Amino acid sequence: DRLSAATLPRLAQSVTTPAYDRQSVTPGIVHLGVGAFHRAHQAVFIDDCLNRGETRWGIVAASLRSPDTRDAIEPQDNLYTFCLRDGESERMRVIGSILETIVAPAEPERLLERMADPRVLIVTLTVTEKGYLTNLASRSLLRDHPDIVHDLENQERPRSIFGFILAATRRRRKEGSRPLTLLSCDNLPANGHVLQKLLLEFAELTDPELASFIRTNIACPCSMVDRIVPATTDADREAISTALGLSDAWPVVAEPYFRFVIEDRFPHGRPALEKSGVEFVGNVEPYEHMKLRILNGSHSAIAAIGQIAGLATVADAWDEKPVRDFIDAYWRETERTLDPAVDGAEFADGLRERFANPSLQHKTMQIASDASQKVPLRILGPLRELLAEKAESRAVIFAVALWIRSCADKNEKGQPITILDPAFKEWDAPDQLAMTPDAVVDRFLTFERTFGSDLPRNETFVLALKAAYRDIREQGALAAIERFLKS
Ligand code: NAD
Repeated sequence: DRLSAATLPRLAQSVTTPAYDRQSVTPGIVHLGVGAFHRAHQAVFIDDCLNRGETRWGIVAASLRSPDTRDAIEPQDNLYTFCLRDGESERMRVIGSILETIVAPAEPERLLERMADPRVLIVTLTVTEKGYLTNLASRSLLRDHPDIVHDLENQERPRSIFGFILAATRRRRKEGSRPLTLLSCDNLPANGHVLQKLLLEFAELTDPELASFIRTNIACPCSMVDRIVPATTDADREAISTALGLSDAWPVVAEPYFRFVIEDRFPHGRPALEKSGVEFVGNVEPYEHMKLRILNGSHSAIAAIGQIAGLATVADAWDEKPVRDFIDAYWRETERTLDPAVDGAEFADGLRERFANPSLQHKTMQIASDASQKVPLRILGPLRELLAEKAESRAVIFAVALWIRSCADKNEKGQPITILDPAFKEWDAPDQLAMTPDAVVDRFLTFERTFGSDLPRNETFVLALKAAYRDIREQGALAAIERFLKS
């Protein structure tokens, strides 16, 4: 049988289930981008709130792309299992905070109605970096992106996050409802500011008066989210369904660690997430830099090594001493770019354990996805600061060279490398292994959306990048890392 409201009472006592009456929960949040992360993070904290009796914060979850999550969880009354994994131990909990799932391309009007519902006060987002339709080097809207062009012409049947937010805001204004608060939970530095800037840029193109309303009335607090949530595998699905005694088509698996820091700017109210350990602060930036630069930056470097050397998971790569030593060097350099209010070294200590967690099975291929969008934010951002200060940046530049090599057709075992990166694929990527190392780097530096126009002109950077890439090509990633560590 399938997990559902009807079968819930059959679960073993060891599985935690919603202690509230789901029928009495009303929608207060619309979430855009219902992927694994949302279901293992925000939806869990909201489930806590509902358990505490804050029943006005139920979630309407939407996908702006694939129907996969809805197809899996709608037949289960939108229930699914959240499984915490740490080494051998495992804890399971059924989450009930998602009231409804909507696939936006199929039912844009239904999503707009929910976003315009006066009871809904917050829209949260995890739409990946590419969902922001932006040139990350210049932080400006990709105005010629087909979704933007479409949304400017079809304002009541939008596709992009900006089209939906603008149309919903227009309706709410007309109906005299309170403005939405927009909470981005994506891994973008200053995510709230970026969201607001891009939304305003989009609004100015169609309705300058509405843009001015948004500027003064819509709060876009910044947030920092930290919890490793790998994509669910078929093996997870089977193991969890067996343990439940009921089949769950799409459970989520996560590590026990979490940190969720949010700028406390919710003019129209918010759930009391602090009761679940969420931190509300005045300024998120120091935390966000720490997480993006220390965790995400090293994650991307590890993912590149995994792609090049054929190491499937973070734990596999972490098992290699040269990788651990290289990441230590990477952290020592990037820690210098952090605000003194945060302790990067302590955070890195915790990461050593988190990366070693073998039960998570976090795939290097998944982390390497969309790398052309991630590298500018998590690696090139701190690199620019180090270069400006003439501070040590060899390991960070080496990580960029690793990324370039990881975009080749084949790994060091001669197997094809799977690259899940639409923006990179749009670019005419060279067949690296048939070119000289220096020529490959020169070609990559013309990829303006990743490198901007400044870095290709920085001689220190270009020379060090070419030397690192040459070593990786000539000696292999792990041997080149060992040589790097000795030099
Ligand atoms: P996922 O692949 O499970 O889900 C991605 C979601 O983004 C899907 O709902 C998809 O439809 C949507 N999406 C993809 N491209 C889009 C586009 N162009 N426009 C609109 N929506 C789009 O991934 P996930 O693990 O849920 O991660 C999503 C985001 O959450 C990450 O990109 C990151 O910003 C943030 N995050 C994830 C983790 C993690 O460990 N997984 C940790 C911290 C933050």
